[in-house]
Amino acid sequence: MLGHNGSPHPLRDTAISLDLAARSCAERGLRFTPLRQYVLEALLVAGRPLGAYDLLRLLGERLGRDVSPPTAYRALAFLQHHGFVKRLESCRSFVPTIRQTAPETVDETVDETAGESGVFLICNSCGTTVEIDAEGLGPMLLSHARAYGFRVNHSSHELQGTCETCQSKGAKP
Ligand SMILES: [Zn+2]
Repeated sequence: MLGHNGSPHPLRDTAISLDLAARSCAERGLRFTPLRQYVLEALLVAGRPLGAYDLLRLLGERLGRDVSPPTAYRALAFLQHHGFVKRLESCRSFVPTIRQTAPETVDETVDETAGESGVFLICNSCGTTVEIDAEGLGPMLLSHARAYGFRVNHSSHELQGTCETCQSKGAKP
């Protein structure tokens, strides 16, 4: 997954990530249409979370024509469902999350993200978003919820604050 181990996703990784996504789709018999590819590419190049309107504008520029919101949303929904993109609840925007290997089986009754251990660190100053692996966090939260008889169908782990670079520039959290 991009950005794991605390490393940000640099621009040069865009081509590699797109290639990874294309291969993952091929292996799973999914269609990686040009629009789906452009949406993922825009998110990878941006290097920060993009809201739906930013994305529509970038797609329009890339394709030289307007893309209707439902069309863009369908592409986003596809990318989200198959684990290429994640929606950040706290800032209503999207970030790429490329998986090296797709989950073998998906329990449709439980959200794919429910047991995830990934935590997003979101910088409020520059928008840089990094996904780190907080091993065991997702399962731990799920077991706590289960102890209360609670059935989780969605969870989101996001921490907002100031990145190291912005801190060194003196940005306030
Ligand atoms: Zn920052």
